[in-house]
Amino acid sequence: MRNRKLVSHSAHSHVPDDTRALRILFIFALDAYFLKGSNMPLFLQTARHSTESCPMHNEKVKKAFSDFTNKMGKLAKKHGIKVVGAWASMPEHLIVVVYDVPNAEAMLKFSMEPEVMEWLSYQTTENRPVKTIEEVMKLLK
Ligand SMILES: [Zn+2]
Repeated sequence: MRNRKLVSHSAHSHVPDDTRALRILFIFALDAYFLKGSNMPLFLQTARHSTESCPMHNEKVKKAFSDFTNKMGKLAKKHGIKVVGAWASMPEHLIVVVYDVPNAEAMLKFSMEPEVMEWLSYQTTENRPVKTIEEVMKLLK
């Protein structure tokens, strides 16, 4: 019985306070390293969560999602970031956000805002710089 509970807890994507900050910082430190020298302003973020960590089924996550979405625009603006768009694929528990960022450091600072960190702590995120197809076409010429 005790083991069952432990397994079920580890399947949950939420991690304790002390490790989640480090995990997020590490992810963005890596991104900052790979983005060094890049002038790509668009940043595509995918965030996946488990059914247990879904805002539709978990009140704590629902609050984190609400706090994040209510402040996202304001916090982004504070760091010179523009939210190009945000989409959710509900059956996949997947959220995709495209940010227009001045640099990787701004994205790092944005991600360290309490509301952003709280929301991301329920997600497994991937962050990548992207170009528009128009920019790619220019490079091909
Ligand atoms: Zn979900």
